[in-house]
Amino acid sequence: MRHSRRLPAFLLAASLAALPAAGCVRNPATGERQLSFFSEAQEIQMGREYDAQIVASLGLYPDSALQRYVQELGARLAAGSERPHLPWTFRVLDDPVVNAFALPGGYIYVTRGILAYLGSEAELASVLGHEIGHVTARHSVSRMSTQQLAQLGLAIGVLVRPELETAANIASAGLSVLFLKYSRDDERQADDLGLRYMRRASYDPREMADVFAMLERVSAAEGGGRVPEWLSTHPDPGDRRARISAQVAALPPDSATGRVERESFLRRLDGLVFGQNPREGFFRGTEFLHPDLAFRFVFPAGWRTSNQRSAVLAMSPAEDAVVQITLAEEATPEAAARRFFGGQGMAGSPRSDRINGLDAVTGSFATATQSGPIRGIAAFIAHGGRVYNILAYAAESRWPAYDAAARQAIGSFDRLTDQAALAVQPQRLDVVMLERAMTLEEFARRHPGPASLEDLARLNQAEPTTRFAAGELVKRITGSPPPGASE
Ligand SMILES: [Zn+2]
Repeated sequence: MRHSRRLPAFLLAASLAALPAAGCVRNPATGERQLSFFSEAQEIQMGREYDAQIVASLGLYPDSALQRYVQELGARLAAGSERPHLPWTFRVLDDPVVNAFALPGGYIYVTRGILAYLGSEAELASVLGHEIGHVTARHSVSRMSTQQLAQLGLAIGVLVRPELETAANIASAGLSVLFLKYSRDDERQADDLGLRYMRRASYDPREMADVFAMLERVSAAEGGGRVPEWLSTHPDPGDRRARISAQVAALPPDSATGRVERESFLRRLDGLVFGQNPREGFFRGTEFLHPDLAFRFVFPAGWRTSNQRSAVLAMSPAEDAVVQITLAEEATPEAAARRFFGGQGMAGSPRSDRINGLDAVTGSFATATQSGPIRGIAAFIAHGGRVYNILAYAAESRWPAYDAAARQAIGSFDRLTDQAALAVQPQRLDVVMLERAMTLEEFARRHPGPASLEDLARLNQAEPTTRFAAGELVKRITGSPPPGASE
């Protein structure tokens, strides 16, 4: 949870559902006749609305030089595409997950997580090129799944209360990225187009195969439970690597080379935040600790938690109840509670309260939504010059099962006083120039850090026995994980 305020509410489900009459046009990138549900203007408008949600929920990586660099590289690649006139927008998200994705209309995202593993500008060009390919080929966005949200009964736009709508929107932006899925054919087509765009911008096409090799290794290391979305929703990277390698091998010899830009790229990554940034909150089991805002909170055991940019929230295992913490806009708990409980169609009786010595207003509430009546508890707590809004709610029929757990969770909100947790710093990428030739193994011994030799090998797309020459740049990780952190 970071410092930004409440999000505006977008009605994305509505914009996706209200399909205008379909037309059939020839796609300029693929040459195929394509059924098109959206005009280009609608496509751009939809991308712009999703973009606002993505930025609000995942956040931009706060490094303007890096943002500018990715934007310029992306714009150069897109200028060589069949849709150069789109409002191409390239962003680096402040997200540790290894991922890249595109929205309709030309909005493209890479995470700081994927940047850390890339080894050259040409590799980044192949990732951006692939995502540009999804946009130029107008791959269907109809696969953006809202099923998970429907299960919650809290799908986007169904709620009448703006505070609750916020939670649904935050959850949905995260979820719709998680479930962004294209068909295998679309992925192969995006690979082919990516290769085309990187070659048009004179990058070495062989670098694309290296990206797939890197993704395979990261995927294998992550294991079943935490496979990055880019991998789980994309076809098998090994298969894609073989396809692209075969295509590159078939190119005439003089066109299978080009710019790589390894050194200049790696220097840009020096100091990049690596892994979760614990300053913005981290979990220790079910306990959530937020060093920057100096509070702690214990979520119900077994719930699925998510630390978003404007909220930290948890969903019950059955996905039918939510506990969320956001910052209220009002200056006092009383003012925030007055607005919440005074809303139209809201029933409830707030009262002054103390939670672990902090001034608070709490109360049960009930209200109607488009998907039926819901019940819950709202708490407004003053701490450190801010007012925290904690909401716990479920469909009316389900609420009795959650009431006790919700009360216990709300009662756990407290000041964070653990000095080690308050002082925590993120881990960062450190790019080291070798004074002399050495193997990665030797490098790891000479520069001890929190990363294992296997981690270093993946980060550098190398093996422990790989020998680097004097003057070469090698990545390592500095810092230490937050005390007692989980995940
Ligand atoms: Zn893709």
